[in-house]
Amino acid sequence: MIRIANFNVNFDDARELKVLVAERLGVAADMVSLVKVVRKAVDARRFHGAPIRFVYMLDVAVQGSEKKLLSRWKKDRNVSEAPEAMASLGQFSPPGREDKPPVVVGFGPAGMFAALTLARQGWQPVVVERGRDVDRRHEDIARFWSGGGFDEKSNVQFGEGGAGTFSDGKLTTRVNDPLMGQVLADFVAAGAPEEILYLHKPHIGTDMLRQVVKNIRQEIIRLGGQVRFETQVTGLEADSDGRLRGVQLNGQERLSAGAVFLGIGHSARDTYQMLFDRGIAMEAKPFAIGVRIEHPQELIDVSQYGQDAGSPLLPVADYALTYNDRASGRGAYSFCMCPGGQVVAAASEAGGVVTNGMSNYRRDSGVANSALLVTVNTADFASHVLGGIEFQRQWERLAFRLGGGDYRAPVQTVGDFLSGRQGSRDFLTKPGYLPGVKPVDLHGCLPGFVTDMLAAALPYWDRKIHGFAHEGAVMTGVETRSSAPCRIVRDRESYQSVSMPGLYPIGEGAGYAGGIMSAALDGMNASLAFLRENSHNI
Ligand code: FAD
Repeated sequence: MIRIANFNVNFDDARELKVLVAERLGVAADMVSLVKVVRKAVDARRFHGAPIRFVYMLDVAVQGSEKKLLSRWKKDRNVSEAPEAMASLGQFSPPGREDKPPVVVGFGPAGMFAALTLARQGWQPVVVERGRDVDRRHEDIARFWSGGGFDEKSNVQFGEGGAGTFSDGKLTTRVNDPLMGQVLADFVAAGAPEEILYLHKPHIGTDMLRQVVKNIRQEIIRLGGQVRFETQVTGLEADSDGRLRGVQLNGQERLSAGAVFLGIGHSARDTYQMLFDRGIAMEAKPFAIGVRIEHPQELIDVSQYGQDAGSPLLPVADYALTYNDRASGRGAYSFCMCPGGQVVAAASEAGGVVTNGMSNYRRDSGVANSALLVTVNTADFASHVLGGIEFQRQWERLAFRLGGGDYRAPVQTVGDFLSGRQGSRDFLTKPGYLPGVKPVDLHGCLPGFVTDMLAAALPYWDRKIHGFAHEGAVMTGVETRSSAPCRIVRDRESYQSVSMPGLYPIGEGAGYAGGIMSAALDGMNASLAFLRENSHNI
């Protein structure tokens, strides 16, 4: 196969890729027998009025001698021999009779991919998840969003699929890991659209994710694993030499295990406390807090695509914004932007309001939302390892009170926020947060350094995206759970806790990943480290 990189095609060019490739390589179209899209990105930058382009990486099969063709193009850096297909996980020897099944705590992306990897190698993991299965979880969340009461056991943070289930399902990551192809292939095998294998910014969407996580669960069970819902790890048990030997479940049952993969996410505050009390090495880490902002999707599309906005050939547009304040050294940035999505209530603790964003696969709500976050340094909260949790909780409770004490969220228009007014209801888009909102002054539920930074950043961002700081744009508070406020310290090579061998802290909650893809990769890599230590390659 021949790989062609940086292959630019005008977005509205209707010709078949095969024809364009043949032209590029200087061969007849009927010589091109296969074109496989390896990567596809949109380039909307318009240098000298250039049209919007799709930028492809393609693997192409050509009849006749590919070697000869390659030598013709040897001076062209964008034409080369296609590399071997994706990295393989390897095959390990199965567990011995004396080996106990590993326990995987949490069925978010990290836990799912740790369990799937172990199950494929014959280790029959036992997964324990404090929340409910995805169908019951969906009902619980729908009830909460329609004003029917909040459930601490089953919500946007807790339950099958983890925090990412009710999300935009973006699979982009800054991590560059050879196993990414494997994770994407597993998602596709479980029902995600094939395009995630090649899109530069792949996404699945909440509607599809619900079935995908269910299928991954069924695959783990088919391979001999177990998945137990409404089962919370409430304690860890260790030998006299400090090595892990089991977990306590729901405060009563005991399950013995030689290895425990702890994929608890960033919101399991009671579990963090249990780990701290147990003497597990942890450290505070920086995170970020802020608000969600909503705009008409059209405004974002026009800013990115100009006159081509709205073309069915183009995906709904996204954005990524940053702002740095030299004096304070702090940064503000957009995060987890959800095109065509919805702002959601994402609390996991009674008496707190937390926002986040999600979208369905088609991203067709007509509203764009994104978090606008400001970095919080460890010096901003008490020196205690778990001080970040108390800091988050403080602002979540203030938001709850400001919103009226019934899980409505505090909102404010950008116009009011920037001019010191409050109460305007002249919203550019209907606030999407359910179970409802209350117009207030967001300065009452955010630290001064956050509101100051946002006030400075919004006009700056308006110069990048015209209308971003429109006075009717809706801001909803508070977004506090974008990453973990602490880290469960582990050994770099073995992935095991530095204070309890046999305990594998994984994913976002461990502080070593951020986002669906990187959490999944972390779970997979930790289970491979376990397999390397406990069996031999065959
Ligand atoms: P989680 O997904 O948080 O899973 C942890 C699981 O552990 C939970 O199900 C929890 O119930 C369970 N658990 C906790 N404690 C215990 C215990 N003691 N015993 C048993 N079970 C326990 N990321 C993206 O990359 N793209 C997105 O588009 C995106 N959108 C998001 C939208 C929303 C609304 C939210 C909340 C998050 C979003 N994220 C997104 C972030 C992403 O979901 C997380 O980074 C990812 O889910 C982390 O995976 P994880 O497996 O480490 O933890």
